[in-house]
Amino acid sequence: MTFDPRSLIRPEVRALQAYQAGLDSAPGRRVKLDANESPFALGEGIRGAIADELRAALSDVELHRYPDPEARELRRLLAQEMGLRPAQVLATNGSDEAIQLLLLAVAGPGVTVLTPVPTFVMYELGARALGLRYVGVPLDGEYALDTGAFLAAIRNEQPRLVFLAWPNNPTGGLLDEAAVLTIIRACNGEEAQALVVVDEAYYHYSGRTVLPRLAELPNLVILRTLSKVGLAGIRLGMLAASAPLVEEINKVRGPYNVNALSQAAARVVLRHGDVVRRNAAVIVKERERVLRALRDLAGVTIFPSQANFFLMRTRLPGDAVHQGLLARGVLVRNFSRAPFLSDCLRVTLGSPEENDAFLAALRAVLESGR
Ligand code: PMP
Repeated sequence: MTFDPRSLIRPEVRALQAYQAGLDSAPGRRVKLDANESPFALGEGIRGAIADELRAALSDVELHRYPDPEARELRRLLAQEMGLRPAQVLATNGSDEAIQLLLLAVAGPGVTVLTPVPTFVMYELGARALGLRYVGVPLDGEYALDTGAFLAAIRNEQPRLVFLAWPNNPTGGLLDEAAVLTIIRACNGEEAQALVVVDEAYYHYSGRTVLPRLAELPNLVILRTLSKVGLAGIRLGMLAASAPLVEEINKVRGPYNVNALSQAAARVVLRHGDVVRRNAAVIVKERERVLRALRDLAGVTIFPSQANFFLMRTRLPGDAVHQGLLARGVLVRNFSRAPFLSDCLRVTLGSPEENDAFLAALRAVLESGR
């Protein structure tokens, strides 16, 4: 009998499906609206007042040396932007890594991770990969959270880690702040004790944050990322929490997790918060314009969004609409076979021209039926 080395891989890992990132190479794709990136390249055109600085910073990087293992200057800038101390901040290889570090730091036999569903799949995938118990509490038919049901799940399931994407991906909605705070407090008492991670990946598009509560809520962890505001390619995320908690989570981090080029690029961009905010404001305006245009379109239901994307349910089969859009050069994300998301497509807001191309393609698909 030949030995299959895959038999050494834990069964819970073998049972997983790898995360399906966007189909970057989809044939014919002209307009890419599938991965919640910013359409604006920070190094170009008027937005590229920073281009020269970026070039200079990257050419100064000593590639034969390891990067600063503590990313000190970068963390100083991240902390400054959030009004925190550097000891309250961890820089990570995308917020994906921050999610993994949190899971690793709490992992153990019988440990439970709780999230609403549907939500960002890496919470569940990461938990299952570590052999943790995962519990999802379904959102209602409008993709709003039933806070009562979620609080009951906290009491009954006794999670050690709770993830709330705020706004939620892929649904786009924003739970009201009072509900978020109630959940955090419910996990900070006698009935339950858990870290509550408020994942603010889309903060720049919602304008909402629980950051001012960090000092009073010791079990709160906030995640942010530069991926949605023009720097998805450098993979820079961050975690903010109380200094003692950050000190513990830091112990499971790899020593050089943020590479030298990414540290340099992020430092430049963080000194130009105005550019990031201006670009985000364009997208927020586009969100209003596109959602207005879709509101009266027969054949689609649009869900409210506070992010740089929105979810829509199509009357035609979602697969057909996805294919029809792709045939017209527009790539969006197809969730139509995912649990709780039948016939749903997620559309990232692009530049005004890209959004017009999407609207024209969608109208054509709905009229022709494919
Ligand atoms: N959190 C949420 C809610 C997201 O939607 C995403 C991106 N899909 C991430 C985290 C991961 O982002 P990144 O690793 O690029 O920072």
